[in-house]
Amino acid sequence: MAEVRGFDESKVDDAGLNESIKKLTPEKIQRVVQRVFNKESAARLQVYLNTCVHCGLCAEACHTYVSRDHDPRFAPVSKVRDTIWELIKNKGKVEPEKIKDMARIAFTECGACRRCSMYCPFGIDIAYLILVMRRICNLLGVVPKYLQDTTNSHAATMNQMWVHQDEWIDTLQWQEEEAQFEMPNVRIPLDKEGADVMYSVIAPEPKILAQLLGNMAQIMTVAGIDWTMPATDGWDNSNMAMYSGDFEVMGRVEKLHWETAARLKVKKVVMGECGHAFRGAVYDGPRWLGWQYPPIPMVHAIEFYYDLLKSGRIKVKEKYKEHVTVQDPCNTVRGRGLGHKLRYVIDQLCENFTDIDPRFEHNYCCGAGGGTINCGPPWKPTRMRSTRVKAEQFERTGAGVIITPCHNCHSGIEDIVGHYGLGMHVKFINEIMVDVMEKPEDMG
Ligand code: SF4
Ligand code: SF4
Ligand code: SF4
Repeated sequence: MAEVRGFDESKVDDAGLNESIKKLTPEKIQRVVQRVFNKESAARLQVYLNTCVHCGLCAEACHTYVSRDHDPRFAPVSKVRDTIWELIKNKGKVEPEKIKDMARIAFTECGACRRCSMYCPFGIDIAYLILVMRRICNLLGVVPKYLQDTTNSHAATMNQMWVHQDEWIDTLQWQEEEAQFEMPNVRIPLDKEGADVMYSVIAPEPKILAQLLGNMAQIMTVAGIDWTMPATDGWDNSNMAMYSGDFEVMGRVEKLHWETAARLKVKKVVMGECGHAFRGAVYDGPRWLGWQYPPIPMVHAIEFYYDLLKSGRIKVKEKYKEHVTVQDPCNTVRGRGLGHKLRYVIDQLCENFTDIDPRFEHNYCCGAGGGTINCGPPWKPTRMRSTRVKAEQFERTGAGVIITPCHNCHSGIEDIVGHYGLGMHVKFINEIMVDVMEKPEDMG
């Protein structure tokens, strides 16, 4: 399998880290660290740090550690030792160069996948500690350039990929027309008040994967769903600000998303195949906003497809024949427990399925999560070095197609497939469902 040799992470040229630290002073660092420790993180941080006994039992859980031949620097506990603990030990008195190393660890060497928490006898949430470190980096302005750019896009346009309002509407109309070649009665209803479902997606769909929108329009039509999509900002439910540590922007994005659903008076929100966006919309966003729950029920696409198939609203004409396996996305399978529903959907749609091992909540992260893929090309070799275990896991299945109901997983796994020469294809459920479902002409 391919290796990434001669790559030194500490020498990566990323202006978001290398240039930004030039503006720091030890006093500023100390001020920000104290603010986050004393005003934002409170008891949870202290409990985790005081409970950890440095046993290292969580190490084997981390794909970065296992993929790098058990290099101790990549054990979860080492990542905390070299960041948060170091700051606490020194009461925030560290040099700017140290902050650069800490930012590299927090943003590019941990995907906040939470697999390690399941193997810690005390359930310590290492990902939370790493996100606290990212918050400090954000307040110091030390964030990988590409990741910061996505946050800037959220702040300026309320979507992750600088999609303009007219571009959004044009893309929906274009996809409606495309879908009408398959089914003349397909519509993408915009801003329809009181619909049963608001369908919300992440910005890569209109930007680079528009056919997923047309596919969903066909699925909604065949299933007879009363649905709508927003015509205005608030349609994007992705949230890279959650991972860059800019919680103010994260809150703005989530608030607008939920206000849009409330304005349309929909009964529920169905979100597309994305893991982190679900986490942001259902968990992290509402908590930051001080809400106990989101104001309107939200289901992930996996749950939606499960209901459509279980209820017979979508029937399968002929199952997909390729040999498939699956990626269990951390945020929806480990975080939401959708692994069984995902298996049901795959069994209904596909003839030849080999499960991944380990699976469900024990599955390894794809290595792209937690904003790591959004750190961009400078850090791709880092991701590839951290995902050898993931490539081996896929290869063992012998499958030709990897089903990945998560955008970050999808892009990350495409990189893995290319880098490790696996010769596999990566597909969303949506792409398979639209091919195998009964359409009106089949229904007689
Ligand atoms: S990448 Fe996942 S398993 Fe590794 S330290 Fe981060 S949260 Fe833990
Ligand atoms: S986080 Fe848990 S498993 Fe990991 S070193 Fe600390 S106590 Fe041990
Ligand atoms: S990208 Fe996918 S596998 Fe990776 S952390 Fe996110 S949900 Fe998990």
